[in-house]
Amino acid sequence: MKAMVLSDIAKLELREVPRPGVQQYEVLVRVSAVGLCGTDFHIFSGQANYNINQRGKVIPLVEQPQILGHELVGIVEEVGSLVKDLHIGDRVVIDQGLNCLSRRRQPKCEYCVSGDSHQCQFFSEHGITGLPGGLAEYIAVPAVNAIPINSDLETIAAVLTEPLGCISHALDRGTRSRTRYVINTEDIDQRVRSILIFGAGPAGLLFIQYLYKVLNYDGLILVSEPNQQKRELASCFGAEVIDPQVVDLVDVVQEKTGGRRVEYLIDACGAGSVFKDIPALIRRQATVLLYGLGHAGVDLSVLNNLQFMEPTLVAAIGASGGFRSDGRPCTYDRALGLLTAKQIEVTSWITHCYQSLESVPQAFTSDHLEPDYIKGVLVL
Ligand SMILES: [Zn+2]
Ligand SMILES: [Zn+2]
Repeated sequence: MKAMVLSDIAKLELREVPRPGVQQYEVLVRVSAVGLCGTDFHIFSGQANYNINQRGKVIPLVEQPQILGHELVGIVEEVGSLVKDLHIGDRVVIDQGLNCLSRRRQPKCEYCVSGDSHQCQFFSEHGITGLPGGLAEYIAVPAVNAIPINSDLETIAAVLTEPLGCISHALDRGTRSRTRYVINTEDIDQRVRSILIFGAGPAGLLFIQYLYKVLNYDGLILVSEPNQQKRELASCFGAEVIDPQVVDLVDVVQEKTGGRRVEYLIDACGAGSVFKDIPALIRRQATVLLYGLGHAGVDLSVLNNLQFMEPTLVAAIGASGGFRSDGRPCTYDRALGLLTAKQIEVTSWITHCYQSLESVPQAFTSDHLEPDYIKGVLVL
């Protein structure tokens, strides 16, 4: 089969690779669509490499090339001999993360027991940690990692299941943490009144919608975003937008919050430079949700002034969640449901569609750096 292989930093090659075989409890899925994510661009550019060996050492791409792509929708092409609940032709979204249920491990590790499936002790991830991803014609995954799409939801929207699952999990991490300020609490002193989000890329746009439409948060959401197109979208979804290149972010946040500053801050951009502003933007003992990755360009001394504010720093990664009775991941199931019900809108900000594997490198080398790029999807 054909696959787009990252054989070294910034080197994508279309290669002929063996089509994966199917084990008893697996399905072979013909890839229909792959969302391109910031994580893919980070790995491509060499800013990140999450393929590490047992001792925590990074395995270079030249040693183990990576097929990227972890936001996946496809059609079941072949079914393992012991798979009873999926059939050839079923349309599915894929949880790219292999956990204890994927591996049929008994007993489950403590993280799978607590529903933190993407922190599974035996975790590995297609498209990220060395296992082949979806920028290929086919991918084989355990049947429990394939969630059937039982509706006519557009494939291009279904591909946002994984990113939406990550947003839902991230906010859930905040809810599960002991924090001074709480979203939607009745207690007026503890109640989060204002949230500031850095960045209105795909993550920021999903955070705004999830907070307003799913959690029914009714406070203020401020979004700091230098890109006009993204600001317009954030504004459409109900946020008050700020262009930090034109106005002083600290002044605006002070003014909009009546001097209180925000009780909850979400970094959905991953730019290291925003960290130096955080102490002046948050209320003391606020919650700071670390979502974006990258953080380049600053040294850790930016944390000094932040520490003085005693924030609760909440870190979130992936789309962890518990399991349905059939072993499939709840977070993906819920996210797919929200997209199907059109509760979360995604198609208006998918700016780039790629129709072939051959055309995908363009997203990596140039398109995603352009101001009109928000989200790219490969549709085969
Ligand atoms: Zn991603
Ligand atoms: Zn586990």
